[in-house]
Amino acid sequence: MRLTALPALADNYIWLLADAAGAAVVVDPGDAAPVRAALARDSLRLRAILLTHHHPDHIGGAFELADESGAAIYAPADERIAAANLRVGDGDRVRLDEPALTFEVIAIPGHTRSHVAYYGHGLLFCGDTLFSVGCGRMFEGTPEQMLSSLDRLAALPGDTRVCCGHEYTVANCAFARTLDPRNAALQARDAAAATLRDRGEPTLPATLADERACNPFLRVDSAALVAALDGADRVARFADLRRRKDVFRAPLA
Ligand code: ZN
Ligand code: FE
Repeated sequence: MRLTALPALADNYIWLLADAAGAAVVVDPGDAAPVRAALARDSLRLRAILLTHHHPDHIGGAFELADESGAAIYAPADERIAAANLRVGDGDRVRLDEPALTFEVIAIPGHTRSHVAYYGHGLLFCGDTLFSVGCGRMFEGTPEQMLSSLDRLAALPGDTRVCCGHEYTVANCAFARTLDPRNAALQARDAAAATLRDRGEPTLPATLADERACNPFLRVDSAALVAALDGADRVARFADLRRRKDVFRAPLA
């Protein structure tokens, strides 16, 4: 099985998985064009489309692609994803015949109320909930919800490869380092991410073990973050952290 991150729109990734026989599945095709180009280049047949949440930069190309290929669209139950034909919810299993893959659906509300992740074969497709060294904005959820969604993802095996919806790693590291300045794993991640971006390569997938070591949103119970954040408990610290990220502007170099 081959995994590819297709850059799309401003800073999105569309994830493409293809087997040796040329059957393919994509996650969050916000734009049809890069998917079409990848399918043509490698003579792939698109069989399924997985959607994590309703935002246009994640679903914008799904219906065209389904129309052209006959691929099934899997999506959470949300009227804002009108044309999906297969609805998924927490605990469901998505079983695909080709490519032969099974994913577990994990409900992760917070960025949006119906956001889901797909987990299987050591891969986690988590849309805009968990980013590398960051997390999504809470448009439709509370800090409690977002933190418990991130807790569920953080409990997956450390070698899980985290396939996020956006390339935000370098900017996320700049923010994280202001609060966790002595974290050596974070410094190493920042340097590695900068090198990858200089070469024009994705910083993703990340590993979950690395996220647990670097990502402040998974580290609200660490001594460094407890000292840096305001709040009497972990939810309050998480809310303070998200609020600080919302207004953070990196200093000009
Ligand atoms: Zn989004
Ligand atoms: Fe997005």
